[in-house]
Amino acid sequence: PYDVLVVGGGPAGSSAAIYAARKGIRTGIVAERFGGQVMDTMSIENFISMKYTEGPKLVASLEEHVKEYGIDVMNLQRATRLEKKDLLELELENGAVLKTKSLILSTGARWRNVGVPGELEFKNKGVAYCPHCDGPLFEGKRVAVIGGGNSGIEAAIDLAGIVKHVTVLEFAPELKADAVLQERLASLPNVTVVVNAQTKEITGTDKVNGITYIERETNVERHVELEGVFVQIGLVPNTDWLGETVNRNKFGEVQVDRHGATNVPGVFAAGDCTDSAYKQIIISMGSGATAALGAFDHLIRN
Ligand code: FAD
Repeated sequence: PYDVLVVGGGPAGSSAAIYAARKGIRTGIVAERFGGQVMDTMSIENFISMKYTEGPKLVASLEEHVKEYGIDVMNLQRATRLEKKDLLELELENGAVLKTKSLILSTGARWRNVGVPGELEFKNKGVAYCPHCDGPLFEGKRVAVIGGGNSGIEAAIDLAGIVKHVTVLEFAPELKADAVLQERLASLPNVTVVVNAQTKEITGTDKVNGITYIERETNVERHVELEGVFVQIGLVPNTDWLGETVNRNKFGEVQVDRHGATNVPGVFAAGDCTDSAYKQIIISMGSGATAALGAFDHLIRN
């Protein structure tokens, strides 16, 4: 059996595996796609100590670092079931069952898409999902935020300090964000809020040049000229496959304590699949290290 088996090969999983392997214990990584969300990222400017890098470049150095240690990397393998017996057993889609004394969940998350024409086409060409990451790229420009929940309104407030103008589009008749956020938003001079707005299309040529929505009350179609669209309608953790095996919160995020431990002895979790407050590369790496040290602590005590 493995001492530590890591499920997920993004920044959290890579960091966890390196920290575990450096303890000289048998470590493996199972990943559906090594690199995770970082593979889909164009430019990264907030990975501290690197002024600028690109997703695939960062993934290549993660892979190189992981390969420095005798870690079993099982790429292109999807985990489908976790069971606690004498050991922990992880079943893969191909039917194989891996046994391990401890396990670190780091299966990450994915942004919910609005699913309108232009969204996929202009991803990284004006369509963005992370204001902390991409906000500064739109300095002095006009943007829309789709979604009037807490994350949408936080994004709008954040962006309003950087960009020229923000249009918030909310499908429902009212914003869903906390009252204090709505008040703060209302105090900003360069924000327009449109409720009852159904996004129809993100338009552009080689990059985004506008957004079209339908006023649901009147059925009138409106077009706004702008350079960027932030989609903020939810971040979904890749944890459905866990079912009831570990405690998850109402968003489906795995609940962890400050050692990265879940409610199941020997099972730890890190990164965007957990209930961590913020989802970023540097934060995932930190929590991956925490989970690995937590797992090591568990192994030496059991
Ligand atoms: P992920 O990166 O999501 O990795 C999850 C891993 O688990 C993958 O290997 C995946 O294949 C695997 N996996 C999932 N399910 C299974 C399964 N059932 N079995 C096996 N493996 C599985 N953050 C920044 O700090 N700066 C940025 O500039 C930035 N830009 C971003 C731009 C975009 C377009 C996106 C989408 C995100 C961006 N982020 C950025 C956020 C950052 O990418 C994430 O916070 C970070 O990747 C989370 O790391 P993770 O390891 O927890 O999860």
